[in-house]
Amino acid sequence: MLILGIESSCDETGIALYDSEAGLLSHALHSQVAMHAEYGGVVPELASRDHIRRVVPLLRSTLEKAGKSLTAIDAVAYTRGPGLSGALLVGCAFAEALALALDKPTIPVHHLEGHLLSPLLSADPPTFPFVALLVSGGHTQLMKVTGVGEYELLGETLDDAAGEAFDKSAKLLGLPYPGGALLSQLAERGDPEKYTLPRPMLHSGDLSFSFSGLKTAVLTLVREQDEPLADEFKADAARAFQEAIVEVLVKKSLKALKQTGLKHLVVAGGVGANRQLRSTLDAEAKRKRFRVYYPELEFCTDNGAMIALAGCLRLQAGTPAKRAGEFSVQPRWPLMQMSSTS
Ligand code: ATP
Ligand code: MG
Ligand code: FE
Repeated sequence: MLILGIESSCDETGIALYDSEAGLLSHALHSQVAMHAEYGGVVPELASRDHIRRVVPLLRSTLEKAGKSLTAIDAVAYTRGPGLSGALLVGCAFAEALALALDKPTIPVHHLEGHLLSPLLSADPPTFPFVALLVSGGHTQLMKVTGVGEYELLGETLDDAAGEAFDKSAKLLGLPYPGGALLSQLAERGDPEKYTLPRPMLHSGDLSFSFSGLKTAVLTLVREQDEPLADEFKADAARAFQEAIVEVLVKKSLKALKQTGLKHLVVAGGVGANRQLRSTLDAEAKRKRFRVYYPELEFCTDNGAMIALAGCLRLQAGTPAKRAGEFSVQPRWPLMQMSSTS
């Protein structure tokens, strides 16, 4: 079974071909980061227009790389939500129209289910059940995952998402948008002893997170400095921020493993690319004898491969494919509304 996957929920256009037997055949991605950087954030209308421009060339190159023709596709999976409505509509309209023309069904996919399942694209994939730490630009959640569509929310952020906290703190340090990855590079040069920032909700007794106070703590540090900020200060502040957020994410993940009695942890979403988060979790996994799984670095942030994979796993799990031609997106869509059959 050959599934075409289309991702367009925010500022990445991603296309991929996933074969149920052979795995991922090919994928192509265009990031709009450079286009939005000038505005310091994603401009929804520009995002939609750029998806329109990119989708056909990316589809062509994906097919070409896999040596497949459009007629070989068995179903078209696309991101139905959550995300920017205009951006989602481009992927949805394109997918539904293409499937209609090919007389094939569609599989509307939940974007976070894509992130959650993305470690299954790796050479050594996790098996169910597992605890998932989903840390992306818009979400921070701990979940108990027993199968495709079987998700139990254990805890989530009460305010900013982890990726959002990275980006906002990076902005306060004068880094260009989106600064999360840049901040983490700077942090590697920083002195971990120089500043200590609060670990929000570390001892809250539950699995909730809160990161907006951490961003305010970075702001307070910045205000004590003379402008322009010295490079050494930026690196030390970035390190202090990263130490705090990583400690909270790791401790809460350990707590979730203990609470559920599970031995497998899956990390997904853009912040899952963070090196300090990975090395700290790896060290804990060795010490506490659990296994931790990550997506390949290129599949941590948005991509078409995770959407094609999620679509394929949905079909295999028995979720019925949809007759093509009906256009609807769901910009707001809690993952917990998903079930194993829909
Ligand atoms: P969502 O999936 O919740 O809708 P999104 O799609 O925007 O949000 P992702 O693409 O999963 O989120 O991840 C993007 C986020 O990951 C950004 O906030 C970015 O700063 C962050 N990020 C990427 N690389 C790193 C890194 N190395 N360290 C920390 N954060 C990172
Ligand atoms: Mg993005
Ligand atoms: Fe995402």
